[in-house]
Amino acid sequence: MSKYIRNRLCIPIQGFNRAIIYDLIRNDYFFISNEIFSLINSSGIIKFENEFESTDWIDFLLSEEILFKIENDIELNNFPEVDRQFQTPFLISDVIIHDNIEVSLFSELFGKIDVRNISIIVKHYDKTRINYIIKNISKLEVDSIHLILIEENRDYSPSDFRNLVKFNQVFAILLFNSSYSNYTNNNSEFFKIIEYSNSFTEYSANVYKNKLSINFDHFFEAYNYHNYFNKKIYIDNLGNIKNGLNSYDIFGNILKISKDNFINIIQSNNFQKKWSIKKKNTLICKDCEFRYMCVDPRDVKLNENSNLWFHEYECNYNPFISKWKGEQGYSNLSDSGILVTEKSFEIDKKVLKKKLARLWSK
Ligand code: SF4
Repeated sequence: MSKYIRNRLCIPIQGFNRAIIYDLIRNDYFFISNEIFSLINSSGIIKFENEFESTDWIDFLLSEEILFKIENDIELNNFPEVDRQFQTPFLISDVIIHDNIEVSLFSELFGKIDVRNISIIVKHYDKTRINYIIKNISKLEVDSIHLILIEENRDYSPSDFRNLVKFNQVFAILLFNSSYSNYTNNNSEFFKIIEYSNSFTEYSANVYKNKLSINFDHFFEAYNYHNYFNKKIYIDNLGNIKNGLNSYDIFGNILKISKDNFINIIQSNNFQKKWSIKKKNTLICKDCEFRYMCVDPRDVKLNENSNLWFHEYECNYNPFISKWKGEQGYSNLSDSGILVTEKSFEIDKKVLKKKLARLWSK
């Protein structure tokens, strides 16, 4: 019987109905069945009991260098396990702010805090104002800046952003339901310009297929924490301090508190409570194969029955039937036999089995 070892940077993650191999080298992913998952989810030597029946899978996994064939067991020593812990030197990894709040206030509050990224939500495009904000933000200890331009139906051109090229922290400019025509100069050599066809309101409310992404940091953070909340701060357009854009709780208002008070708030257990949520402790998401590549912006509540977290409205993906909203055969959770509320979590196995048989039986 042949022996194989799994590439340590191709990590299989199981979902309810299928599994995914996260390829952290090529930032890509491959769907596999849960049966194949249970065979290759091992850090030891892998054998296929019925090699003949698995030939297609074995060929595929070898061709993608997800598995390597070995002759001698000692070769296992060349494949040490990857440490899946996640650590970051930043107290705050991401801050989201609105452009209407006076930028000097942010400079004062975040002046002595190491922040990885600041995202600025800009309601109306105004070149001079944007330049002023970025100039001030770029003086802070911040690795990158994302500019989120939410005004729709605009046609931007390189000249709109040429002034920003000199600020090397500007990492990406996000456009919503607008376009970018690059006829002359290519600003994208300096920063990314990302166009979304939906509105920012839609984009920021839920998970979409085009928001999934795989990379080292994203995977390991999501593996250990709920990556939307962990070390994140959102300051809304009124100055309220929140955990995220769709969060229910308000922890204070930056227009009314001192800098010391602000630091006390963001270091408090109350504010950081959601930082320790894990996907594996979140109903529905814990059964989803995409859980370490999505950034889920929905707020969470505690389900009293299971003591796990849950969301009040559904994700665009239903992991129990492996369908995205809009795809043929999609149905929501309740039509698939899944009931989740503050007080209960139930699966009607009969309904779900029927649905799965209709969708996926050959
Ligand atoms: S169900 Fe949860 S884990 Fe899956 S894509 Fe949606 S938000 Fe992400």
